[in-house]
Amino acid sequence: TTQTTRSPLTLYLAAPRGFCAGVDRAIKIVEMALEKWGAPVYVRHEIVHNKFVVDGLRDKGAVFVEELEECPDDRPVIFSAHGVPKSVPAAAEARNMVYVDATCPLVSKVHIEAERHAEAGLQMIMIGHKGHPETVGTMGQLPDGEVLLVETVEDVAHVNVRDPERLAFVTQTTLSVDDTRDIVAALNARFPAIIGPHKEDICYATTNRQEAVKAVAPKSDAMLVVGAPNSSNSRRLVEVGAKAGCNYAQLVQRATDIDWRALEGIKTVAITAGASAPELLVNEVIDAFRARYDVTVEVVETAVERVEFKVPRVLRQPA
Ligand code: SF4
Repeated sequence: TTQTTRSPLTLYLAAPRGFCAGVDRAIKIVEMALEKWGAPVYVRHEIVHNKFVVDGLRDKGAVFVEELEECPDDRPVIFSAHGVPKSVPAAAEARNMVYVDATCPLVSKVHIEAERHAEAGLQMIMIGHKGHPETVGTMGQLPDGEVLLVETVEDVAHVNVRDPERLAFVTQTTLSVDDTRDIVAALNARFPAIIGPHKEDICYATTNRQEAVKAVAPKSDAMLVVGAPNSSNSRRLVEVGAKAGCNYAQLVQRATDIDWRALEGIKTVAITAGASAPELLVNEVIDAFRARYDVTVEVVETAVERVEFKVPRVLRQPA
């Protein structure tokens, strides 16, 4: 057989990428719950925003639903890593259900912040994406209508507050660091008395993945972000890559999504993965490049992560 020479290609692998401590913990919670209680175990909302992960857990006996009403009273239910409004555990308790909360501890921290500010008599503003489950969950820590949502700098100009002297803000954990800085600046300019977290509530994993993208994007002809279309942090990585100077930044769920036509003539590709994307899918993408190019892989590491979260006590005790 004749073998055509494959053109050389450098893959810049951004690090850190992929699973964060909160995602790792949430997946472990479902697996341990299945071991402890057997199937079926119900999970309210995708445990993390990744189809591959969800399909794998479904095969082991997890049943994914959108609302608690879809769960029977007599099976355990797990709440996803994104967090839930207060009404959800309250409803589970009213039905005497066994539930495990897989909300990331860094999201729970924001919930507590919001409650503390409200108890101190401050009106809350949340910087986040409307309809994202984390935003719904955080806003749902306080009664309906109590938390005002702003998504953009323009929203800040129009938000209607009770008393500009008594305000605080929280943010979603997976926002763009740079866009959020601008929104926070706009809030501080319009409401000088507003109280907020030291910087914002964007988590270490989001920050580190965006930093790594900024390091690889400018030297890459193209960038692929392995992640799901409903994953907020993955979509932000695409935006950050494009802003940092990469002309072609695309989200791919897995190797079959790669548009090879669009990549014709390229010499360098950056690869990263959202916090809910398994490394296995990154390897699949790398292998797809190896099948077509003479690939050199270069890891570009901008931070080392050692964060780990324990699973809830109920799962650490024998059945
Ligand atoms: Fe937690 Fe951040 Fe991971 Fe979200 S992205 S689960 S806040 S560590």
